[in-house]
Amino acid sequence: MLLRKNVEMLFKNNKKSYVVYTAGAAVLKEIAKPVAVVSDEIRNIAAEMLVAMRIFNGIGLAAPQYGYSLRMVVFDVPSESNTGTPGEIALLPRMPMTVINPEIIAYSSSKTEREEGCLSVPEIYAPVIRPERVVFRAQTLAGEFIEYECGGLLGRCIQHELDHLDGKLFTDRLTADAARQIRGDLERLKRIGQSSNYRRISKK
Ligand code: ZN
Repeated sequence: MLLRKNVEMLFKNNKKSYVVYTAGAAVLKEIAKPVAVVSDEIRNIAAEMLVAMRIFNGIGLAAPQYGYSLRMVVFDVPSESNTGTPGEIALLPRMPMTVINPEIIAYSSSKTEREEGCLSVPEIYAPVIRPERVVFRAQTLAGEFIEYECGGLLGRCIQHELDHLDGKLFTDRLTADAARQIRGDLERLKRIGQSSNYRRISKK
């Protein structure tokens, strides 16, 4: 796993442009494949995803958003968001972090509504109802297995990012009312995405 200061360095010295695929891109609709071996290639993709997440000011980025149909996600959820669940206590101090083959193995019956946005759905925000807490299981790049109950913004972000691995966007989970409100903007985005090869280049 890259330390925060390495990411800062990569970020500063970086002249490469990064792309995040937006709604309408085929890769965002696929069921992503499990990561079989943590190879150098996987480590490189993870390192680039951390930089891309930073450049686009995201708190999470799933590999399909970066053009790879792989079950890998990077997170950088702010520590100030901690609501005290075991997973937040354990994982927020370790941000930014990369996980491979993440799973949600249980959902709380209680649900909450929260506004979501997505780097693949730029400038569109809408409230989404999801379980309040999940039990999250994953492997780190170093091969460590983690399993925690996560709520708060982290629990929310985990659910959002793991949806990307199954070809879903938050816009697929809206109430009829919310879907109606963003429909025009989303259709426009999908058209732009198609004509510009589904790419969005950092303005930095
Ligand atoms: Zn997203």
